[in-house]
Amino acid sequence: MSDPYLQFVNSPPGAAIARQLGLPRPVRLERHRLGDPVIRGRVLLGGSSAPIGSPPMAGGRQAAAGGLLQEIVAVLREAGCELATGNEAPLRELVAQAGMDATVFNGEAPGGQRLKALVFDASTIADSRGLAEMHGFFHGSVRQLERCGRVIVLGTPPADCDSVRQATAQRALEGFTRSLGKELGRGATVQLVLVAPDAGAGLASTLRFLLSPRSAYVSGQVIHVGAPGASAAAVPAQLDWERPQAGRVALVTGASRGIGEAIATTLAREGAHVVGLDVPALADELEQVSTRLGGEALVLDVTAAETPAAIAERFSDGVDVVVHNAGVTRDRTLAKMPAERWSELMDINLSSQERIDEALLAAGAIRPGGRIVCVSSMSGIAGNAGQTNYATSKAGVIGRVQALAGELAGRGATINAVAPGFIETRMTAAMPIPIREAGRRMSSLGQGGEPVDVAETIAWLAHPASGAVNGNVVRVCGQNFLGA
Ligand code: NAP
Repeated sequence: MSDPYLQFVNSPPGAAIARQLGLPRPVRLERHRLGDPVIRGRVLLGGSSAPIGSPPMAGGRQAAAGGLLQEIVAVLREAGCELATGNEAPLRELVAQAGMDATVFNGEAPGGQRLKALVFDASTIADSRGLAEMHGFFHGSVRQLERCGRVIVLGTPPADCDSVRQATAQRALEGFTRSLGKELGRGATVQLVLVAPDAGAGLASTLRFLLSPRSAYVSGQVIHVGAPGASAAAVPAQLDWERPQAGRVALVTGASRGIGEAIATTLAREGAHVVGLDVPALADELEQVSTRLGGEALVLDVTAAETPAAIAERFSDGVDVVVHNAGVTRDRTLAKMPAERWSELMDINLSSQERIDEALLAAGAIRPGGRIVCVSSMSGIAGNAGQTNYATSKAGVIGRVQALAGELAGRGATINAVAPGFIETRMTAAMPIPIREAGRRMSSLGQGGEPVDVAETIAWLAHPASGAVNGNVVRVCGQNFLGA
């Protein structure tokens, strides 16, 4: 689906006109291409000054462990990132010990090269005065951020803090990242990653995703990384980051077109054997997608009484990834919505997911290291006039994810949701122009997302190394101004 305004302001004459008239100029977002590095450009790393490897102090358990810098450096090294740091001796020593070179950043672009990402470990900030260190790091560097740059702040979940002062400071990080996301423009994204004590080892897949163009349309999010638990055991020691799903089997519902097709394509690119499911009316389209991906087609209606058993039977030898993507809208204001319109949608968008997961779990078909990813919607978070049925179903999806996360962790698996905002699909192409334009522009990135942006986010949550990410709801909405 095309966005004529985006194309216009990114053409030479369009850019000149937009500049003259002071019109907003959303940039074309960079997206991942096969073989690309995690990030192209230099990463500036910093952290609050709680001493690395220092004895326990006011910063609580995270500070007792010396913050997260060690783990972050290890991830950046493995990912082959170019690094810059300030002049702080402990951090530079840590980087040297990891066998990495880091340019010194003193407020100027190091070596004339600007910065592609700013990563700040705020997890040891112990009280509100300590937040000034975060200001200092970003104040001196934010102007050097390149187009489509990445900002990541790492913190400690307030619930895991040891004092009221520390919990206050850590909660404050959210206001900072959400505001910076709204300030930066030029395709930049900003996230807060809250890492539970002792969970730093599970950061790799999340940091890689958030640094890379795979997260092009994810901004202003708060992501929780917990202890990987039993699912860590399922991560192969030598993980192939290009094909992490090799040898794994994935079920994707609603796979014949739109977002579902992009999910199936992305998981297949990552090496999964994809079993796509869709309704009998779309059997031909589904067959084409499955043939193209070397996968398998499962022609079923998710609401049919026999479907959960049929799926459990197909996966009697186990399934690694289940993506509940099939969904519909049946918009009408509540006063005009007949009961059948409500029930039909609820059955497709929510109840079918319950029945399918119950059947798979009862059959023991979700393998250790398994990943369930559900597609919710921004409407399920913010609500939307004319969508009481849709928003109810999508909020219910979020409820399931939060309620099931504990049980799945006990099985060495995870469940998470993505909540797309305005994504360029047939559904949004059919909207009246004013609503479509508002949906695109009322976000920090000033444009709609592509189906692949939802798919890449799902691929991160479905990743074998994402065992520490459980019970999250991640919006793929370009930091849309609606809702939280
Ligand atoms: P889409 O193009 O309509 O694709 C959804 C697919 O699910 C279709 O192939 C559809 O077939 C299938 N499906 C519907 N009912 C089914 C059933 N009973 N059994 C099996 N398959 C069924 O929609 P999309 O825009 O890609 O959306 C995919 C998901 O993202 C949905 O859950 C949607 O709510 C969510 N979402 C989309 C957006 C957006 O901007 N597009 C935003 C937020 C959330 P049919 O032809 O029968 O409908």
